[in-house]
Amino acid sequence: MHSRALLLATILTAAVGVGIAQTPRGGQSDGALRPRPGANREPEFPAPSIRDYKPRSTLVVSQHPVPRAKYPVIDIHSHQPAPISRQQLDSVVASMDPLNLRVLVNASGATGTSLVNSIAAIRNTPHRDRMVMFTNINFRDVGPGYGERAARQLEADVKAGALGLGEIMKGFGLSARKTDGSRLTLDDPELDPIWATAARLNIPVLIHTADPQEFFQPLDFQNERWLEMALYPDRRYPSSRYPAFEQLMAERDRLFRKHPKTTFIAAHMGWHANDLARLGKMFDEMPNLYAEVGAVLYDLGRQPRAAHDFLVKYQDRVLFGKDSYQPDEFPYYWRTFETADEYFDYYRDYHAFWKLYGLALPDAVLRKLYYGNALRLMPALPRGGFPQ
Ligand SMILES: [Zn+2]
Repeated sequence: MHSRALLLATILTAAVGVGIAQTPRGGQSDGALRPRPGANREPEFPAPSIRDYKPRSTLVVSQHPVPRAKYPVIDIHSHQPAPISRQQLDSVVASMDPLNLRVLVNASGATGTSLVNSIAAIRNTPHRDRMVMFTNINFRDVGPGYGERAARQLEADVKAGALGLGEIMKGFGLSARKTDGSRLTLDDPELDPIWATAARLNIPVLIHTADPQEFFQPLDFQNERWLEMALYPDRRYPSSRYPAFEQLMAERDRLFRKHPKTTFIAAHMGWHANDLARLGKMFDEMPNLYAEVGAVLYDLGRQPRAAHDFLVKYQDRVLFGKDSYQPDEFPYYWRTFETADEYFDYYRDYHAFWKLYGLALPDAVLRKLYYGNALRLMPALPRGGFPQ
């Protein structure tokens, strides 16, 4: 009897030990703490694929969809045609109004003549206060003298009316090459004049670095983005062909630290929405760093208490951004930020296999997230229509 109890205790300890070893950062167990009687039995019917299994939830809780944001919103990370036609702009603005989207920052990237035309296309309409342009940099053929030339163009573009630089795309870091054939690292000194000029002109730099960390991991059944990676081959970054996630993060952080007077907005929360303590540490160490929430709602909504506390603590550092412009997706953001709703769907089922929970952010925090922080970083933004 005694030895059987001891044996059982040993097995339990071993099982718990394995569980912890497999889930390094407070993750979930494999679904069972220990083998149950009949654990090796098979389903009587063929198991559905992960694409077929869509169980109807029987949970009955109150639902508060939010079709219209509580306060006017500035989307710091939007992609629109550049230049945009009058007809396209009319149609975009018509879709913004019911959402309470007030201003879109077109971060698609136009420079030189194309930027001038893009700004004129907006200004020559009744919607001139609804969309603004950022300028961009192509990072092609980077060699001696590139940084100075790009900095001069940046200055000209800002004079022409660009309110910021970006979105600097993920190709910068992942794939951009220098003229000598080597990979252009994020902290390459040749680019220093660009970041210094952004600081002098007091414009923010919206920068997207790498992609979710799972895209850099093996495509196995422990990967929480398995389906997405299986569906989209271009979201896989095998180590044979790409730098590692952590290498890109290290280069990025060196860039942010090297230019403390340059305001950087890390797109997609720097891909650390799944590790908010890490992003919080970065905010603590780098006062020039901001972040936007585009395309990482699935991470905020699965940790509503931690995300609430994070967004309250860093309420002056996070901006609203959405990335792809799909009007029917914005209400998921409003609902997640504004309500305390529980267990509701995300809008892309191949992205997240889990449900979302509302953060119920205080009004003062919502206002900073939706527009206050953007107005502070970009004094030249149209300021009409925002509560004082
Ligand atoms: Zn983008």
